[in-house]
Amino acid sequence: MDILWAPWRSKYIYSRKIKKCIFCDPKEYVLERTKHSFSILNIYPYNNGHVMAAPFRHVKSLEYLKAEELKDLMDLVVKTKKVLDKKLKPQGYNIGLNIGKAAGAGFAGHVHIHIVPRWAGDTNFMPAASGTRVISESLDVMYKIYKSSPRTPCSNV
Ligand SMILES: [Zn+2]
Repeated sequence: MDILWAPWRSKYIYSRKIKKCIFCDPKEYVLERTKHSFSILNIYPYNNGHVMAAPFRHVKSLEYLKAEELKDLMDLVVKTKKVLDKKLKPQGYNIGLNIGKAAGAGFAGHVHIHIVPRWAGDTNFMPAASGTRVISESLDVMYKIYKSSPRTPCSNV
């Protein structure tokens, strides 16, 4: 076997890999930051107000988090739900994780929890007919709605 040495590609490959994780380097729409976690609007939302909560540490599943990190993450999920309750008044939620690509995780390397507000009738013919969802609020509007809420410390949940 011949080897083609291309050491100049290392910098590109390593930097590309680091930049690929949206949870290690969130660019915008970060809603909250706690000691170990943060929440962010999903830029490809399943529904209005779709938020994701993730630990700062890049780990692929919950069992790699320390107890303190797990509690911090779950407190953030509860806090996020309370803010969404107040601001959007949904009738239900889908809250959960997709662990591994086979389970549908878009970013399988960095565990994150989806918090998806739901309303009766929010699933209409569009997803069934074309795989397209209709999201009525823009991310900018949703960000402003969320951030306009009064701050509630996680300890009060
Ligand atoms: Zn990451």
